[in-house]
Amino acid sequence: MSQTAYRGAQDNRLKYLLSYVSDHSPYYQRVFREHGVDIEAVFKIADLSALPFTTKDDLAAANDDFLCVPKSRIADYVTTSGTLSDPVAFYLTDSDIERLATNEAESFKCAGGSERDIYQLMTTIDRRFMAGLAYWMGARKMGAGMIRVGPGAPYLQWESIRRFSPTVIIAIPSFIPRLIDYALANGIDFQSSSIQSIICIGEPIRNPDFTFNELGKRITSQWNVKLFSTYASTEMGAAFTECSEGKGGHLNPDLLILEVVDEDGKAVEEGELGEVVVTTLGVEGMPLLRYKTGDLCHVYYSPCACGRTSPRLGPVVGRKQQMIKFKGTTIFPPAIFDVLDMVSEIELYQVVVSKNEFGNDEITVLLAMHLHTPAFREMLHSLFKSRLRVTPVFEFITAEELSSRIFRQEKRKPEKLIYI
Ligand SMILES: [Zn+2]
Repeated sequence: MSQTAYRGAQDNRLKYLLSYVSDHSPYYQRVFREHGVDIEAVFKIADLSALPFTTKDDLAAANDDFLCVPKSRIADYVTTSGTLSDPVAFYLTDSDIERLATNEAESFKCAGGSERDIYQLMTTIDRRFMAGLAYWMGARKMGAGMIRVGPGAPYLQWESIRRFSPTVIIAIPSFIPRLIDYALANGIDFQSSSIQSIICIGEPIRNPDFTFNELGKRITSQWNVKLFSTYASTEMGAAFTECSEGKGGHLNPDLLILEVVDEDGKAVEEGELGEVVVTTLGVEGMPLLRYKTGDLCHVYYSPCACGRTSPRLGPVVGRKQQMIKFKGTTIFPPAIFDVLDMVSEIELYQVVVSKNEFGNDEITVLLAMHLHTPAFREMLHSLFKSRLRVTPVFEFITAEELSSRIFRQEKRKPEKLIYI
Protein backbone atom coordinates (compact mmCIF):
# COMPACT_ATOMS: atom_id res chain seq x y z
CA MET A 1 0.00 0.00 0.00
CA SER A 2 1.33 3.44 -0.86
CA GLN A 3 1.63 6.10 1.82
CA THR A 4 -1.35 8.04 0.45
CA ALA A 5 -3.47 4.88 0.32
CA TYR A 6 -2.94 3.92 3.93
CA ARG A 7 -3.36 7.52 5.13
CA GLY A 8 -6.71 7.68 3.33
CA ALA A 9 -7.83 4.47 5.04
CA GLN A 10 -6.62 5.84 8.37
CA ASP A 11 -8.64 9.05 7.87
CA ASN A 12 -11.83 6.98 7.66
CA ARG A 13 -10.90 4.93 10.69
CA LEU A 14 -10.13 8.09 12.66
CA LYS A 15 -13.53 9.49 11.76
CA TYR A 16 -15.18 6.34 13.07
CA LEU A 17 -13.04 6.35 16.23
CA LEU A 18 -13.94 9.93 17.12
CA SER A 19 -17.65 9.34 16.86
CA TYR A 20 -17.26 6.05 18.77
CA VAL A 21 -15.44 7.60 21.76
CA SER A 22 -17.75 10.61 21.83
CA ASP A 23 -20.68 8.16 22.08
CA HIS A 24 -19.16 5.66 24.52
CA SER A 25 -16.11 6.91 26.43
CA PRO A 26 -16.92 8.87 29.63
CA TYR A 27 -13.32 10.09 29.67
CA TYR A 28 -13.25 11.47 26.13
CA GLN A 29 -16.77 12.88 26.44
CA ARG A 30 -15.49 14.93 29.37
CA VAL A 31 -12.25 15.95 27.59
CA PHE A 32 -14.07 16.97 24.40
CA ARG A 33 -16.47 19.05 26.49
CA GLU A 34 -13.72 20.68 28.55
CA HIS A 35 -11.52 21.46 25.53
CA GLY A 36 -14.41 22.45 23.28
CA VAL A 37 -13.37 19.79 20.73
CA ASP A 38 -15.59 19.66 17.66
CA ILE A 39 -15.12 16.14 16.31
CA GLU A 40 -16.79 17.12 13.04
CA ALA A 41 -13.76 19.34 12.43
CA VAL A 42 -11.26 16.49 12.95
CA PHE A 43 -11.64 13.86 10.31
CA LYS A 44 -8.19 13.74 8.87
CA ILE A 45 -4.92 12.74 10.45
CA ALA A 46 -3.63 16.18 9.52
CA ASP A 47 -6.24 17.63 11.93
CA LEU A 48 -5.16 15.43 14.85
CA SER A 49 -3.31 18.25 16.55
CA ALA A 50 -6.70 19.81 17.35
CA LEU A 51 -7.15 17.02 19.90
CA PRO A 52 -5.42 17.10 23.31
CA PHE A 53 -2.88 14.42 24.21
CA THR A 54 -3.75 11.61 26.61
CA THR A 55 -1.01 11.00 29.19
CA LYS A 56 -0.10 8.07 31.42
CA ASP A 57 -1.32 10.12 34.37
CA ASP A 58 -4.72 10.67 32.70
CA LEU A 59 -5.01 6.95 32.14
CA ALA A 60 -4.05 6.11 35.74
CA ALA A 61 -6.30 8.77 37.28
CA ALA A 62 -9.42 8.02 35.24
CA ASN A 63 -8.71 4.36 34.44
CA ASP A 64 -12.24 2.93 34.25
CA ASP A 65 -13.64 6.07 32.57
CA PHE A 66 -11.77 5.03 29.42
CA LEU A 67 -13.92 1.93 29.12
CA CYS A 68 -16.46 2.17 26.27
CA VAL A 69 -18.47 -0.99 26.93
CA PRO A 70 -20.38 -2.42 29.91
CA LYS A 71 -18.15 -4.58 32.13
CA SER A 72 -20.20 -7.63 31.15
CA ARG A 73 -18.62 -7.37 27.66
CA ILE A 74 -15.05 -7.65 28.97
CA ALA A 75 -13.45 -10.91 27.93
CA ASP A 76 -9.93 -10.47 29.30
CA TYR A 77 -8.49 -8.35 32.11
CA VAL A 78 -4.89 -7.24 31.76
CA THR A 79 -2.62 -4.72 33.44
CA THR A 80 0.34 -2.70 32.22
CA SER A 81 3.79 -3.62 33.50
CA GLY A 82 4.00 -0.50 35.65
CA THR A 83 7.78 -0.03 35.65
CA LEU A 84 7.48 3.47 37.07
CA SER A 85 4.00 3.53 38.52
CA ASP A 86 1.14 1.33 39.64
CA PRO A 87 -0.09 -0.97 36.89
CA VAL A 88 -3.06 0.40 34.93
CA ALA A 89 -5.98 -1.87 34.06
CA PHE A 90 -6.78 -2.65 30.45
CA TYR A 91 -10.06 -4.26 29.47
CA LEU A 92 -10.33 -6.28 26.28
CA THR A 93 -13.52 -7.30 24.55
CA ASP A 94 -13.73 -10.35 22.35
CA SER A 95 -13.08 -8.19 19.30
CA ASP A 96 -10.05 -6.58 21.00
CA ILE A 97 -8.59 -10.07 21.49
CA GLU A 98 -9.16 -10.77 17.82
CA ARG A 99 -7.40 -7.47 16.99
CA LEU A 100 -4.43 -8.62 19.09
CA ALA A 101 -4.30 -11.89 17.20
CA THR A 102 -4.29 -10.02 13.88
CA ASN A 103 -1.58 -7.69 15.11
CA GLU A 104 0.65 -10.54 16.20
CA ALA A 105 0.12 -12.63 13.07
CA GLU A 106 1.09 -9.62 10.93
CA SER A 107 4.02 -8.95 13.24
CA PHE A 108 5.30 -12.55 12.88
CA LYS A 109 4.94 -12.31 9.08
CA CYS A 110 6.90 -9.05 9.07
CA ALA A 111 9.69 -10.94 10.89
CA GLY A 112 9.70 -13.60 8.16
CA GLY A 113 7.32 -16.03 9.91
CA SER A 114 4.90 -18.41 8.18
CA GLU A 115 2.58 -21.31 8.94
CA ARG A 116 5.59 -23.61 8.64
CA ASP A 117 7.21 -22.12 11.74
CA ILE A 118 7.11 -23.42 15.30
CA TYR A 119 7.49 -20.76 17.98
CA GLN A 120 8.88 -21.40 21.44
CA LEU A 121 7.45 -18.86 23.87
CA MET A 122 9.86 -17.88 26.66
CA THR A 123 7.64 -15.26 28.27
CA THR A 124 4.75 -15.63 30.64
CA ILE A 125 1.31 -16.13 29.09
CA ASP A 126 -0.71 -15.44 32.24
CA ARG A 127 -0.14 -13.01 35.14
CA ARG A 128 -2.41 -10.43 33.45
CA PHE A 129 0.23 -10.05 30.69
CA MET A 130 -1.19 -9.03 27.32
CA ALA A 131 1.74 -9.90 25.08
CA GLY A 132 2.03 -13.58 26.03
CA LEU A 133 -1.58 -14.14 25.06
CA ALA A 134 -1.08 -12.16 21.86
CA TYR A 135 1.87 -14.32 20.76
CA TRP A 136 -0.08 -17.51 21.19
CA MET A 137 -3.09 -16.22 19.31
CA GLY A 138 -0.96 -14.66 16.59
CA ALA A 139 0.80 -17.95 15.91
CA ARG A 140 -2.56 -19.73 15.84
CA LYS A 141 -4.04 -17.17 13.45
CA MET A 142 -1.06 -17.48 11.12
CA GLY A 143 -1.36 -21.28 11.24
CA ALA A 144 2.00 -21.82 12.98
CA GLY A 145 2.66 -23.94 16.06
CA MET A 146 3.68 -22.84 19.52
CA ILE A 147 5.41 -24.38 22.51
CA ARG A 148 4.54 -22.42 25.65
CA VAL A 149 7.51 -23.03 27.91
CA GLY A 150 7.36 -19.68 29.72
CA PRO A 151 10.21 -17.65 31.21
CA GLY A 152 13.45 -18.98 32.70
CA ALA A 153 14.04 -22.74 33.07
CA PRO A 154 16.98 -23.16 30.65
CA TYR A 155 16.89 -26.95 31.01
CA LEU A 156 13.25 -27.13 29.94
CA GLN A 157 13.91 -24.68 27.09
CA TRP A 158 16.66 -26.85 25.62
CA GLU A 159 14.73 -30.05 26.22
CA SER A 160 11.79 -28.55 24.29
CA ILE A 161 14.05 -27.37 21.48
CA ARG A 162 15.56 -30.84 21.13
CA ARG A 163 12.22 -32.60 21.35
CA PHE A 164 9.96 -30.39 19.17
CA SER A 165 12.44 -28.57 16.85
CA PRO A 166 11.00 -25.04 17.08
CA THR A 167 12.32 -22.56 14.50
CA VAL A 168 11.72 -19.26 16.33
CA ILE A 169 12.22 -18.18 19.94
CA ILE A 170 10.17 -15.36 21.50
CA ALA A 171 12.09 -13.96 24.47
CA ILE A 172 13.41 -11.02 26.40
CA PRO A 173 16.85 -10.79 24.73
CA SER A 174 18.83 -10.56 27.97
CA PHE A 175 17.68 -14.12 28.70
CA ILE A 176 19.45 -15.47 25.60
CA PRO A 177 23.03 -15.19 26.97
CA ARG A 178 21.86 -17.24 29.99
CA LEU A 179 20.39 -19.81 27.62
CA ILE A 180 23.67 -19.98 25.69
CA ASP A 181 25.72 -20.22 28.90
CA TYR A 182 23.55 -23.10 30.07
CA ALA A 183 24.07 -24.90 26.76
CA LEU A 184 27.83 -24.36 26.93
CA ALA A 185 28.03 -25.59 30.53
CA ASN A 186 25.97 -28.69 29.76
CA GLY A 187 27.44 -29.76 26.45
CA ILE A 188 24.34 -28.90 24.41
CA ASP A 189 25.17 -28.39 20.74
CA PHE A 190 23.12 -25.21 20.37
CA GLN A 191 24.80 -24.22 17.10
CA SER A 192 23.13 -27.07 15.27
CA SER A 193 19.74 -26.64 16.94
CA SER A 194 16.55 -26.02 14.95
CA ILE A 195 16.38 -22.33 16.01
CA GLN A 196 16.73 -19.89 13.12
CA SER A 197 15.55 -16.62 14.60
CA ILE A 198 14.63 -14.83 17.82
CA ILE A 199 11.80 -12.33 18.28
CA CYS A 200 13.27 -9.98 20.89
CA ILE A 201 10.78 -8.24 23.15
CA GLY A 202 10.97 -5.57 25.81
CA GLU A 203 14.60 -4.54 25.38
CA PRO A 204 16.49 -2.99 22.46
CA ILE A 205 19.09 -5.05 20.62
CA ARG A 206 20.24 -2.23 18.36
CA ASN A 207 21.83 1.17 18.60
CA PRO A 208 20.02 4.12 17.04
CA ASP A 209 22.12 3.61 13.86
CA PHE A 210 20.69 0.04 13.65
CA THR A 211 23.99 -1.70 14.36
CA PHE A 212 23.66 -4.27 17.14
CA ASN A 213 24.13 -2.94 20.67
CA GLU A 214 26.26 -4.94 23.12
CA LEU A 215 23.46 -7.37 23.93
CA GLY A 216 22.73 -7.90 20.23
CA LYS A 217 26.45 -8.44 19.56
CA ARG A 218 26.80 -10.78 22.50
CA ILE A 219 24.04 -13.03 21.15
CA THR A 220 24.96 -12.96 17.45
CA SER A 221 28.71 -13.42 18.08
CA GLN A 222 27.99 -16.71 19.84
CA TRP A 223 24.97 -18.05 17.98
CA ASN A 224 24.15 -17.99 14.29
CA VAL A 225 20.55 -16.79 14.62
CA LYS A 226 18.67 -13.85 13.13
CA LEU A 227 17.39 -11.29 15.63
CA PHE A 228 14.16 -9.36 15.11
CA SER A 229 13.42 -6.45 17.39
CA THR A 230 9.90 -5.53 18.42
CA TYR A 231 8.49 -2.59 20.31
CA ALA A 232 5.04 -2.87 21.84
CA SER A 233 2.97 -1.94 24.86
CA THR A 234 -0.30 -2.88 26.51
CA GLU A 235 -1.70 0.57 25.80
CA MET A 236 -1.02 0.24 22.05
CA GLY A 237 -2.24 -3.34 21.83
CA ALA A 238 -0.02 -3.55 18.78
CA ALA A 239 3.63 -4.03 17.93
CA PHE A 240 6.25 -2.32 15.78
CA THR A 241 8.21 -5.22 14.34
CA GLU A 242 11.37 -5.30 12.28
CA CYS A 243 11.45 -6.87 8.85
CA SER A 244 14.59 -8.68 7.68
CA GLU A 245 16.19 -5.34 6.76
CA GLY A 246 16.56 -4.58 10.48
CA LYS A 247 16.01 -0.86 9.94
CA GLY A 248 13.38 -0.13 12.57
CA GLY A 249 10.04 -1.59 13.61
CA HIS A 250 7.24 -1.19 11.08
CA LEU A 251 3.96 0.49 11.97
CA ASN A 252 0.86 -1.56 11.22
CA PRO A 253 -1.32 1.25 9.80
CA ASP A 254 -4.53 -0.76 10.29
CA LEU A 255 -4.06 -0.73 14.06
CA LEU A 256 -2.37 2.53 15.05
CA ILE A 257 -1.93 6.12 13.97
CA LEU A 258 1.63 7.11 14.82
CA GLU A 259 2.93 10.54 15.72
CA VAL A 260 6.45 11.25 16.98
CA VAL A 261 6.64 14.62 18.69
CA ASP A 262 9.14 17.01 20.26
CA GLU A 263 8.92 18.76 23.65
CA ASP A 264 6.33 21.18 22.25
CA GLY A 265 4.15 18.43 20.83
CA LYS A 266 5.18 19.16 17.21
CA ALA A 267 5.93 16.32 14.81
CA VAL A 268 9.66 15.65 14.33
CA GLU A 269 11.29 15.15 10.93
CA GLU A 270 12.73 12.06 9.25
CA GLY A 271 15.43 10.41 11.39
CA GLU A 272 14.85 12.65 14.40
CA LEU A 273 14.26 11.64 18.00
CA GLY A 274 10.90 12.28 19.61
CA GLU A 275 8.25 10.88 21.91
CA VAL A 276 6.06 8.14 20.46
CA VAL A 277 2.36 9.08 20.46
CA VAL A 278 -0.27 6.60 19.32
CA THR A 279 -3.97 6.63 18.49
CA THR A 280 -5.40 3.12 18.58
CA LEU A 281 -7.59 1.99 15.68
CA GLY A 282 -10.16 -0.79 15.88
CA VAL A 283 -10.16 -0.98 19.69
CA GLU A 284 -13.58 -1.52 21.27
CA GLY A 285 -12.89 -1.65 25.03
CA MET A 286 -10.41 1.13 25.77
CA PRO A 287 -9.45 3.13 22.68
CA LEU A 288 -6.85 5.87 23.17
CA LEU A 289 -6.45 9.17 21.34
CA ARG A 290 -3.00 10.72 20.99
CA TYR A 291 -1.59 8.66 23.84
CA LYS A 292 1.88 9.83 24.93
CA THR A 293 3.87 6.66 25.60
CA GLY A 294 6.87 8.41 27.16
CA ASP A 295 9.12 6.32 24.88
CA LEU A 296 11.75 8.17 22.87
CA CYS A 297 12.56 6.80 19.42
CA HIS A 298 13.93 7.99 16.10
CA VAL A 299 11.31 7.92 13.35
CA TYR A 300 11.73 7.11 9.65
CA TYR A 301 9.09 7.90 7.05
CA SER A 302 11.06 6.90 3.95
CA PRO A 303 10.01 3.60 2.33
CA CYS A 304 11.88 0.50 3.54
CA ALA A 305 13.92 -1.71 1.22
CA CYS A 306 11.45 -4.52 2.03
CA GLY A 307 8.76 -2.64 0.07
CA ARG A 308 6.67 -1.50 3.03
CA THR A 309 5.87 2.20 3.07
CA SER A 310 4.64 2.49 6.66
CA PRO A 311 6.77 4.55 9.07
CA ARG A 312 9.46 2.79 11.13
CA LEU A 313 10.67 3.38 14.67
CA GLY A 314 14.27 2.94 15.76
CA PRO A 315 15.11 1.33 19.13
CA VAL A 316 13.73 2.94 22.26
CA VAL A 317 16.56 5.23 23.35
CA GLY A 318 14.90 5.73 26.71
CA ARG A 319 11.74 6.64 28.50
CA LYS A 320 11.12 10.27 29.17
CA GLN A 321 10.46 9.66 32.86
CA GLN A 322 13.55 7.45 33.14
CA MET A 323 15.98 10.19 32.17
CA ILE A 324 18.73 10.28 34.79
CA LYS A 325 20.71 13.44 35.51
CA PHE A 326 23.94 12.07 36.86
CA LYS A 327 27.03 14.13 37.64
CA GLY A 328 26.07 16.69 35.01
CA THR A 329 25.36 14.10 32.31
CA THR A 330 21.99 12.95 31.01
CA ILE A 331 21.74 9.16 30.82
CA PHE A 332 18.97 6.73 29.96
CA PRO A 333 19.05 3.28 31.60
CA PRO A 334 19.52 1.37 28.28
CA ALA A 335 22.93 3.07 27.91
CA ILE A 336 23.97 1.65 31.30
CA PHE A 337 22.68 -1.82 30.36
CA ASP A 338 24.65 -1.60 27.14
CA VAL A 339 27.94 -1.07 28.99
CA LEU A 340 27.21 -3.90 31.44
CA ASP A 341 26.27 -6.22 28.56
CA MET A 342 29.77 -5.73 27.11
CA VAL A 343 31.33 -7.60 30.02
CA SER A 344 31.06 -11.33 29.46
CA GLU A 345 31.78 -12.15 33.14
CA ILE A 346 28.58 -10.36 34.19
CA GLU A 347 25.66 -12.74 34.11
CA LEU A 348 23.19 -10.75 36.20
CA TYR A 349 22.96 -7.17 37.28
CA GLN A 350 20.47 -4.72 38.71
CA VAL A 351 20.68 -0.96 38.25
CA VAL A 352 19.31 1.00 41.21
CA VAL A 353 18.44 4.66 40.70
CA SER A 354 17.91 6.73 43.83
CA LYS A 355 17.99 10.34 44.93
CA ASN A 356 20.67 11.54 47.33
CA GLU A 357 20.18 14.08 50.13
CA PHE A 358 20.59 16.94 47.63
CA GLY A 359 17.86 15.60 45.36
CA ASN A 360 20.33 14.48 42.68
CA ASP A 361 20.13 11.09 40.98
CA GLU A 362 22.49 8.37 42.14
CA ILE A 363 23.16 5.19 40.19
CA THR A 364 24.22 1.97 41.91
CA VAL A 365 24.92 -1.24 40.02
CA LEU A 366 24.45 -4.46 41.97
CA LEU A 367 26.68 -7.32 40.86
CA ALA A 368 27.45 -10.84 42.05
CA MET A 369 30.01 -11.21 44.86
CA HIS A 370 32.37 -13.53 42.93
CA LEU A 371 33.26 -10.61 40.64
CA HIS A 372 34.46 -8.53 43.56
CA THR A 373 38.19 -8.03 42.87
CA PRO A 374 40.15 -4.78 42.64
CA ALA A 375 41.09 -5.56 39.02
CA PHE A 376 37.47 -6.13 37.99
CA ARG A 377 36.33 -2.92 39.70
CA GLU A 378 39.08 -0.99 37.98
CA MET A 379 38.15 -2.45 34.59
CA LEU A 380 34.46 -1.54 35.08
CA HIS A 381 35.39 1.92 36.24
CA SER A 382 37.41 2.71 33.13
CA LEU A 383 34.87 1.06 30.85
CA PHE A 384 32.08 3.29 32.18
CA LYS A 385 34.34 6.35 32.02
CA SER A 386 35.16 5.72 28.39
CA ARG A 387 31.61 4.86 27.31
CA LEU A 388 29.43 7.18 29.42
CA ARG A 389 31.99 9.60 30.89
CA VAL A 390 30.67 8.85 34.39
CA THR A 391 30.89 5.85 36.70
CA PRO A 392 28.10 4.53 38.91
CA VAL A 393 28.67 3.02 42.35
CA PHE A 394 29.25 -0.76 42.27
CA GLU A 395 27.96 -2.96 45.06
CA PHE A 396 28.57 -6.66 45.33
CA ILE A 397 26.04 -9.00 46.91
CA THR A 398 25.65 -12.77 46.92
CA ALA A 399 24.46 -14.35 43.69
CA GLU A 400 21.37 -15.69 45.50
CA GLU A 401 20.37 -12.28 46.77
CA LEU A 402 20.97 -10.65 43.39
CA SER A 403 18.91 -13.31 41.69
CA SER A 404 16.04 -12.96 44.17
CA ARG A 405 16.05 -9.18 43.71
CA ILE A 406 15.85 -9.47 39.94
CA PHE A 407 13.42 -12.37 39.59
CA ARG A 408 10.73 -11.39 42.06
CA GLN A 409 7.71 -13.63 42.42
CA GLU A 410 5.19 -10.82 42.13
CA LYS A 411 6.73 -9.38 38.96
CA ARG A 412 6.16 -10.67 35.43
CA LYS A 413 9.53 -9.63 34.09
CA PRO A 414 13.04 -9.62 35.54
CA GLU A 415 13.80 -6.29 37.17
CA LYS A 416 17.04 -4.99 35.72
CA LEU A 417 16.17 -1.50 36.82
CA ILE A 418 14.57 -0.22 40.00
CA TYR A 419 13.89 3.19 41.47
CA ILE A 420 14.05 3.69 45.22
ZN1 LIG B 1 11.04 -3.23 6.09
